[in-house]
Amino acid sequence: MEKMCADALPLTMNSSEKQEIVCIFGTGDFGKSLGFKMLQCGYSVAFGSRNPQVSSLLPRGAEVLSYSDAASKSDIIILAMHREHYECLTELVDSLNGKILVDVSNNRKINQYPESNAEYLAQLVPGAHVVKAFNTISAWALQSGTLDASRQVFVCGNDSKAKHRVMDIARTLGLTPLDQGSLVAANEIENYPLQLFPMWRLPFCLASVLCVFFFVYCAIREVIYPYVNGKTDATFRLAISIPNRVFPITALILLALVYLPGVLAAILQLYRGTKYRRFPNWLDRWMLCRKQLGLVALGFAFLHVVYTLVIPIRYYVRWRLRNGTITQSKLGYLTLILCTAHTLVYGGKRFLSPSILRWSLPSAYVLALIVPCTVLVMKFILIMPCIDKTLTRIRQGWERNSQHSKSALNGKSDI
Ligand code: NAP
Repeated sequence: MEKMCADALPLTMNSSEKQEIVCIFGTGDFGKSLGFKMLQCGYSVAFGSRNPQVSSLLPRGAEVLSYSDAASKSDIIILAMHREHYECLTELVDSLNGKILVDVSNNRKINQYPESNAEYLAQLVPGAHVVKAFNTISAWALQSGTLDASRQVFVCGNDSKAKHRVMDIARTLGLTPLDQGSLVAANEIENYPLQLFPMWRLPFCLASVLCVFFFVYCAIREVIYPYVNGKTDATFRLAISIPNRVFPITALILLALVYLPGVLAAILQLYRGTKYRRFPNWLDRWMLCRKQLGLVALGFAFLHVVYTLVIPIRYYVRWRLRNGTITQSKLGYLTLILCTAHTLVYGGKRFLSPSILRWSLPSAYVLALIVPCTVLVMKFILIMPCIDKTLTRIRQGWERNSQHSKSALNGKSDI
């Protein structure tokens, strides 16, 4: 009967059922938290430590032994230590023979070492069955029980029996094991925790570039220009007025950039006549970080709302909270249309008036409208029935190439 952790499903363990012993090497943050969780879920835990006598703050009920003594207690050993310390296992090679070694380690950088930590471990202890698992679960989440958003445990290993034992443990802890295949997948699994942030890198870089550009642009028009032309000191605008122009502009452009890759992808699919060809890498990367782009846009819209509502504003129109709302698909487009319309209304006749030019530079809002308007026009073209019909068919798997070959057979031109 498979045990199931109390906070995952009700624990109905038979008191006569023998508790399975799991050994954990390392009494650091992760070892302690995992041990705590395992004890909660009905396992017996034997910790292996360099200093079993001085190990403190360990979960009650766990044994703390030397590495070799702990290893003899169980045929499954979870290594809660850093790769840099795996060398100490070479002294235990004989006692680790035939055991399941679970590698939970992560690195500080993507592809930090030539081989994955799990493969390195398998080379150090060739007689053991190495399984990679648990590296995407944090010690804090294990201890605090806040695993809701991250229950997935990616598991890989060359020995399928060993892998399934580890997957059973993960299930018992209330986690969701995902079999990723052989140990070759370990490198990718080790990179997962490090890949979370890069999704934000492009949105943050874009937002910073847009902010700096529009801040300088507005400063030239609204601070430097009045000073050069009329010796008017408008530096007070740098603190509130200009940032409060830059935030909505950045939000609007970022929001448009959420939808631009989708539109470009649709054009590419129409051009290629198939959905079965990879998008260029830059487009793939752009599509993958759309959610983050949208959230950064929302952040800027929120800043704009805070500035507009909290700080006493003298002369600009108040923007409404709904302008910052990002939702998926159609609602997202509706938000983009509303924000663009709002900017157009805000600019009103001033957009077209030569009097607003400063050194031939139009108002920053005019520039802010370029990307959103381009996206909306392209989207409008794409939803025209004749184009939308073809695009929908392509997305349902239809390929133009098959028609091409027919027409080629009939001796017709291909384009
Ligand atoms: P930690 O707090 O630094 O603990 C590492 C443990 O390794 C030490 O407590 C020590 O236990 C043992 N160790 C063995 N040889 C050692 C040596 N020569 N020098 C120092 N320590 C040695 O690290 P951690 O945060 O628990 O992380 C342990 C592993 O879990 C790492 O590979 C990490 O990537 C992985 N991990 C951690 C988390 C997390 O949230 N912390 C999440 C996922 C994966 P003894 O003193 O008892 O010997």
